[in-house]
Amino acid sequence: MIVFDLKCSGNHVFEAWFKSSAAYAEQRAQGLIACPLCGDREVAKAVMAPAVAAKGNQGAGTPPVTPEAFKAALAALAQLQAKQLETSQWVGKAFAEKARAMHAGDAPEAPIHGQATLAEAKALVDEGVPVAPLLVPVVPPEARN
Ligand SMILES: [Zn+2]
Repeated sequence: MIVFDLKCSGNHVFEAWFKSSAAYAEQRAQGLIACPLCGDREVAKAVMAPAVAAKGNQGAGTPPVTPEAFKAALAALAQLQAKQLETSQWVGKAFAEKARAMHAGDAPEAPIHGQATLAEAKALVDEGVPVAPLLVPVVPPEARN
């Protein structure tokens, strides 16, 4: 669980707990987060002190990502992916073939995951097929029990 300081359009600052950064983004996009004081759903992360301190430093680009922040972001992403995998179909070694067919419109779009060699994965990316590496360990159904 992580806590965010949020601010509504009426400038009320309040704290809210979320399972992950991704969960916050999702709930906010769905309008599920409301200000406890006025019920406003136009909420955003309140600006934290470190960001205010960096104000004189504008134009310096994005702030450096700490290893901790990177790890947290990766963990949030892995968590999101684990959730997506619940509704995704394991296609094993046929992954590249199926992903390509879907991209070409030869097969109905559906969430799939499977195995691909590095060369296959690179070829898919080159062809503009949206693929992403798995961040969570997946046990192929044929290897279970
Ligand atoms: Zn408010």
